[in-house]
Amino acid sequence: MKYANSLLDLIGNTPLVRLNQTLDLPGDGPLVLAKVEYLNPGGSVKDRIATRMIEAAEASGALQPGGTIVEPTSGNTGVGLAMVAQQKGYKCIFVCPDKVSEDKRNVLKAYGAEVVVCPTAVAPEHPDSYYNVSDRLAAEPGAWKPDQYSNPHNPRSHYETTGPEIWEQTDGRITHFVAGVGTGGTISGIGRFLKERAAEQGRDVQVVGADPAGSVYSGGTGRPYLVEGVGEDFWPETYDRDIADRIIEVSDADSFAFTRRLAREEAMLVGGSSGMAAFAARQLAHELAEQGRNDAVVVVLLPDSGRGYLTKVFNDEWLGQYGFASGAQADSRTVGEV
Ligand code: PMP
Repeated sequence: MKYANSLLDLIGNTPLVRLNQTLDLPGDGPLVLAKVEYLNPGGSVKDRIATRMIEAAEASGALQPGGTIVEPTSGNTGVGLAMVAQQKGYKCIFVCPDKVSEDKRNVLKAYGAEVVVCPTAVAPEHPDSYYNVSDRLAAEPGAWKPDQYSNPHNPRSHYETTGPEIWEQTDGRITHFVAGVGTGGTISGIGRFLKERAAEQGRDVQVVGADPAGSVYSGGTGRPYLVEGVGEDFWPETYDRDIADRIIEVSDADSFAFTRRLAREEAMLVGGSSGMAAFAARQLAHELAEQGRNDAVVVVLLPDSGRGYLTKVFNDEWLGQYGFASGAQADSRTVGEV
């Protein structure tokens, strides 16, 4: 018989899938491979850091049996933590900014977690900011705050799992790695691992960050943008400023239109931050093709599924409200029309 003892055993080892139509390359071009993280059991890349952060807190004694996990999260880290906590018998309280979709909040509640919603429009130092509310809740007895923005096990989980997977899956031939930046854990952990392994071969892997226009990583101050899970208005400790060789800034409009294209043309139903990262990878692929570097192997990480954004990115009215095109035609047809 073949079975897993727990869902937790199924985290990681996600596949690489080639991007085809959406690259719009005139002829041959570099190979662009998507690391499809929505195939993790909790539906996102964040399952990886949740497991590692909880195990480390158990080992250090910071999290005691029957304790409560308190975290400010845009949803995915919450799902990962809620899933691991359910299996290990911990309570969870999540603090979310109000821009996070209701679907995402309901997923957290479905795992048995409590969700506290805070305004997006206040500064991080404001008492109602989601950072401060979670600090207050984390000060309660028995509470432990993983703090994905400063916890070294966030980037470390990628250094120890996602990075080695990508290296092995590409037979060590990866030349460029592209990822969106939120806490920076993904790009810092994977980027460092890939650069170290490539250095052993006397070469480099170019690490490219994708960032929503307005966020600090691409030189902004944190102007509100709509794409969820990426971009920041401060510099988290989990982001290693020495890792990214380059940051590609992507507008909300391009992120959302490309997210729609990934579903329609590659059958990949992913979230807006995946569309953003893949759009940056497409731009990079075009640059490489122009330089005649068709032997390049680009890997782009797609963090989560589009299921949590059906009322936003995948809703034409929602997009239209912000003046964005859907990037897709003939989405729906009333019965009776020809
Ligand atoms: N996309 C989504 C949907 C996310 O939730 C996150 C995590 N905030 C990211 C991308 C960015 O990953 P990281 O925090 O590792 O930089």
